[in-house]
Amino acid sequence: MRLLLVEDDANLGERLRSRLVQDGYAVDLVADGIDGGHLGATEPYDAVILDLGLPRKSGLAVLRDWRAAGNTVPVLILTARDGWAERVEGLQAGADDYLGKPFHTEELVARIQALLRRAAPVQVPELRVGAWRLDEARQCLTDDRGRQQALTGTEFRLLRYFLRHPGEVLSKTRLAEHVYDYDSERDSNVIEVYVKRLRALLGPDCIETRRGQGYLLRPDA
Ligand code: CA
Repeated sequence: MRLLLVEDDANLGERLRSRLVQDGYAVDLVADGIDGGHLGATEPYDAVILDLGLPRKSGLAVLRDWRAAGNTVPVLILTARDGWAERVEGLQAGADDYLGKPFHTEELVARIQALLRRAAPVQVPELRVGAWRLDEARQCLTDDRGRQQALTGTEFRLLRYFLRHPGEVLSKTRLAEHVYDYDSERDSNVIEVYVKRLRALLGPDCIETRRGQGYLLRPDA
């Protein structure tokens, strides 16, 4: 899952970014409305956290432009503490949720998870593959007998993306776009290497290769 975070308060932005990265998201952090608007219009994010008070272009204008262009990415806006009018404007402009400053990071994380769940094409209460369940909090695999299998950060991000799109053919490019942030070396051939590792962990049949198209996860294989 890849997130765009548009926040001009450098301390807050960096604190949120590192927390979200810790939670296994790829995160692009930008500090003004022009850069944020551009990235949100051109990169395939799974959700956006958008401060409304931004230099160069307001968050509200950024959001209106995205929605006018048909961009339906889930957006959570950050507003001033008593900014009820701002919140109303934000929701009317197409925001999916809001949070007033100051807020607890835990609440932001929970709201983002809820947004991503609602936006998922398939509603899955549990992320399961074969006998394994993906534990998102601990970023590992567990089974009913209490066994645990550790995952590297990239393995976790890739598997979570697969599990949120079961039965869909996912191209290497699309996988790379959702697993890595903007600054990472996004070599889509690396995805092949990680798919091999996931097969070694989960069994050879759980991820099918579709020649020239990409990969497809079969959670029940
Ligand atoms: Ca601000």
